Amino acid sequence: MDHRKVIIIGSGPAGYTAALYVARANLSPLLFEGFFSGPAGGQLMTTTDVENYPGFPSGITGPELMDAFYKQSQHFGTDFLREDVTAVDLSSRPFKVFGSKNSATCDALIIATGATAKKLEIPGAGEDGFWQKGVTACAICDGAIPIFRDKELYVIGGGDSAVEEAVFLTKYGSKVYIVHRRDKLRASKIMAERALSHPKVEILWDSVITKIEGEKVVGSVMLKNVKSGEENSRPAAGVFFAIGHKPNTEFLKDQLETNELGYLLIKKPTTTYTSIDGVFAAGDVQDPRYRQAITAAGSGCMAAIDTERWLGEERIES
Ligand SMILES: Cc1cc2nc3c(=O)[nH]c(=O)nc-3n(C[C@H](O)[C@H](O)[C@H](O)COP(=O)(O)OP(=O)(O)OC[C@H]3O[C@@H](n4cnc5c(N)ncnc54)[C@H](O)[C@@H]3O)c2cc1C
Repeated sequence: MDHRKVIIIGSGPAGYTAALYVARANLSPLLFEGFFSGPAGGQLMTTTDVENYPGFPSGITGPELMDAFYKQSQHFGTDFLREDVTAVDLSSRPFKVFGSKNSATCDALIIATGATAKKLEIPGAGEDGFWQKGVTACAICDGAIPIFRDKELYVIGGGDSAVEEAVFLTKYGSKVYIVHRRDKLRASKIMAERALSHPKVEILWDSVITKIEGEKVVGSVMLKNVKSGEENSRPAAGVFFAIGHKPNTEFLKDQLETNELGYLLIKKPTTTYTSIDGVFAAGDVQDPRYRQAITAAGSGCMAAIDTERWLGEERIES
């Protein structure tokens, strides 16, 4: 089995940034980019314009940005495997990393496998419909784009993040509807009150969206009341899923501590140390709060610096 000082799992902003720093520290990292888990480059490969990544005053497309991340980490000597990690053995050192085709051992491991936004299979919401043409799963990322300005927007969900996203979207939309299939929000009391008292937010109780329609972009939604069965079409420019994220940690098989939602737990505050010494976590897989490209890249940098220092403390030097 190939042995590396550092293996990185995940190819989003966190993984590539960690690789850049680790490679520049002459530690010859091996990075598993993923394959069936999602496109190499991570979540930004599924979006068009990224307008809030610093350094690009006119914006940049997600795939262009991630191609630059990839090339920069490659330039300094990262090796890549375009395959998924299916299992790891963290019970003893060196750690074992099993890919779908190749396996390797390492002294230190950086996990940067991201989190996947949950979506519902509503006709019109998928890639062959209006995904990223008015349908999205990130209000902070996409709320400011012109198609949503002064239009009616729909947020699907009933928890804190649905309320947060709805209130955030009031900066842009003329009216924001929270579509919730129950008659009570799951959100905390204080958040629920924010939604209920906001003049631009209305909650559509006991309701689901059954279809999203439009021409080039979203133009309307079909709304169904689950109690009465009544359905009607309403004008809409945007549909925002806010039903949670699933951290991509299945391959870990509970070897690392997580919170109740499955996000990897950081054991030393303000670092990237996980519950096992020598295993570090970066990006959305450990971040239920910010989930942005810049924060993922920042924590990838932190993980690389933590890794390098930890290897030094363990006297596993380059
Ligand atoms: C549609 C959309 C638009 C967005 N727009 C913006 C925006 O405009 N600005 C912004 O700042 N943020 C935006 N975001 C959020 C941003 O994309 C994420 O916060 C960021 O990509 C997280 O980076 P990450 O490196 O933690 O994980 P990810 O980008 O999720 O990358 C994780 C990678 O790990 C791989 N992986 C997963 N499991 C395995 C495995 N077992 N083995 C190997 N590889 C694996 C995945 O395939 C993926 O390539 C957007 C997100 C979405 C979904």
